[in-house]
Amino acid sequence: MAVMTNAQLDLIKNEFKTLKERSPFYAKKFAGIDLSDVQSQEDFEKLPFSEKNDLREAYPLGIQAVPDEDVVRIHSSSGTTGTPVIIPYTAQDVSDWAEMFARCLKIAGCTNLDRIQITPGYGLWTAGIGFQAGVERLGAMAIPMGPGNTEKQLKMMQDLKSTVITATSSYALLLAEEITKRNLRDKICLRKGVIGSERWGQKTRERIQSEMGIEIYDIYGLTEIYGPGIGISCDEHDGIHMFSDYVYCEVIDPKTGQVLPDGEEGELVLTTLRKQGAPLIRFRTHDLTSIRPDDCPCGRNEYPRINMITGRSDDMVKVKGCNFFPAQVEECLAFVDGCSSEYQIQIEAINDRDVLTLFFETALTGEDKERCEKQLAEVFKAKIGCTPNAEGVPMGELPRSTKKTQRVFDSRY
Ligand code: ZN
Repeated sequence: MAVMTNAQLDLIKNEFKTLKERSPFYAKKFAGIDLSDVQSQEDFEKLPFSEKNDLREAYPLGIQAVPDEDVVRIHSSSGTTGTPVIIPYTAQDVSDWAEMFARCLKIAGCTNLDRIQITPGYGLWTAGIGFQAGVERLGAMAIPMGPGNTEKQLKMMQDLKSTVITATSSYALLLAEEITKRNLRDKICLRKGVIGSERWGQKTRERIQSEMGIEIYDIYGLTEIYGPGIGISCDEHDGIHMFSDYVYCEVIDPKTGQVLPDGEEGELVLTTLRKQGAPLIRFRTHDLTSIRPDDCPCGRNEYPRINMITGRSDDMVKVKGCNFFPAQVEECLAFVDGCSSEYQIQIEAINDRDVLTLFFETALTGEDKERCEKQLAEVFKAKIGCTPNAEGVPMGELPRSTKKTQRVFDSRY
């Protein structure tokens, strides 16, 4: 299993000296635990996990572990299931994050001569601002586009001769398709892509690489732990190097919580080693991966690798750039007259595009059924953010189960 280095253990022990005094969140979570008893990796592995739900319950600033005057910024995760999570940052946290981000860009082969077009969103979300800070720390030229407006993206890409594109995989694909459609391949100067590591297929990756003429690197991170930038793939494109001087990685069995040996797939659990504003101890990411037991040929063995994320251990559905839970689908169904509660979500990749079909049972037929399908698709779009193909089926058509009914069938990749 992952071996905690002495340097990591020292950082954790140091953090624990005053953690409960500084943080009401951990005073409560570790009530009855004397943190000075944690003297080894084995002791550490007995500590309870932190969950996203714990952070939600601490909304808005319950996880803050520094005085107000030390907080310089907050970010927030999307509130897809209701309450968002707010993460406070100190000046040191912001600086550490920029340092890691710049390190990512260097591993991806970027230099201060690059012109880096940033297409992820700015604002509460961590991606846009994170990239911006990393690019500036590297000394490269940031082109802070933000999302959307493909016309302008392509114009700036040509006029400014952008050499690096940063994007989600979905948006990178869209841009790649537009470049091909408009025959712009010879007019652009892109050489690298740094892509947020949502779960995506090799076929999509290859298309983006060949249509844009770039080499792609997967950047990893999550809002709760700085944001993107805590790890990235290298020129070997075989796993993600994690910055072990800032985060400690464990992979656990999602059912039992036991730490797994290297090489076995489970859920990634992260501990921040230096974070001040909102330290996180044994935070369950729900991302499924494994720790690589072998050294990377690139030689960056100080940053151990995890494999590409293969999925999530919880049931969040990610499709067409939006995230939702089955519970939200149920809310949509409840909103539309004529829909029953029974539904099934089918997600397929057709020509590299995600196609989301929402089957639902209804007693309606003919025009009434069509009206109901249309209305459900609209409600879904309004509440969740993407448009499904809503398809009414006769009552009793969908399978029933005495246990938990499987409602999501994802055949992508
Ligand atoms: Zn490597």
